[in-house]
Amino acid sequence: MDKPMALERVEGKTKIVLHKPGTDEVTIINKDDITAGDGARREVMAGKGVIATTTASNCFCLLNNAGLPTHFRRQLDDVSFLADWVDMIPLEVVARRIAYGSYLKRNPEVRAGKWFDSLVVELYFKDDARHDPYVKYDGRIKRWMLYDAKRPLTCQRIDTLEEITTARGNPVSVMHTYVLHALAQAVFTILEHAWAQQKVELVDLKIEGGLQLDANGQSTGLIVVADDINNDGWRIWPGGVAAAMLDKQQFRDQAMVTPEFMESLKRDYVKVAKMT
Ligand code: 5GP
Repeated sequence: MDKPMALERVEGKTKIVLHKPGTDEVTIINKDDITAGDGARREVMAGKGVIATTTASNCFCLLNNAGLPTHFRRQLDDVSFLADWVDMIPLEVVARRIAYGSYLKRNPEVRAGKWFDSLVVELYFKDDARHDPYVKYDGRIKRWMLYDAKRPLTCQRIDTLEEITTARGNPVSVMHTYVLHALAQAVFTILEHAWAQQKVELVDLKIEGGLQLDANGQSTGLIVVADDINNDGWRIWPGGVAAAMLDKQQFRDQAMVTPEFMESLKRDYVKVAKMT
């Protein structure tokens, strides 16, 4: 009898992705880890895997029902969901309604809290060692320009790249980034509306995209919203008040983490999961 093929396993900071060869689906398992500083700080929050899976499943169901292409198929159990197999695009796509966070560092002339009538959408190149530089494509010289995400954009760029490639080595085109831009706007608008019904302001949000793959590992030509959507990747302010934030920013801002702080943070994560 043939031996069953081993599952391909990719472990990230907060999740494990399992792919069974010969299929076009993966199981995504959320871990209990919470990290900051591109992995430099890490804590375990017991139950976070369950909380993240609930939040992600609820958000992805909302997006799928609205007709958006996402990788989410269905929740499998407390800590995992079934998703399309994708070739991840190494870009973080951030949509912003309110000027806050790293945006203010790159644009120091902008007042904190400025409201953007049209969403601002930005790209960052996923590169932990360089803290995910801000990236944009320069069509005249046909290169990707990388800038320090935490310094004014008037500063010298830190590097340029001829090519950005996906996890499986396929080139990322400018057209791909236009699709990601549109997806980030659509995701933001749908979730912003949902949060507004509970009087919570969605300030900004990060998504990632992937090229959907068939069972043979060939691209189907569709770009889908992939990765995770949960309390780690957005800013949400009840009543529009920054001090009332319920999201992971609290962990990023907290230099000294105490057991009491982690308990309070977990209560917020549970509350957010229940509100989704
Ligand atoms: P900022 O660029 O202002 O630090 O973050 C903008 C938004 O993107 C925030 O909602 C933040 O949570 C999200 N974000 C930025 N980088 C990451 C990241 O590496 N992981 C996650 N989960 N979210 C991120």
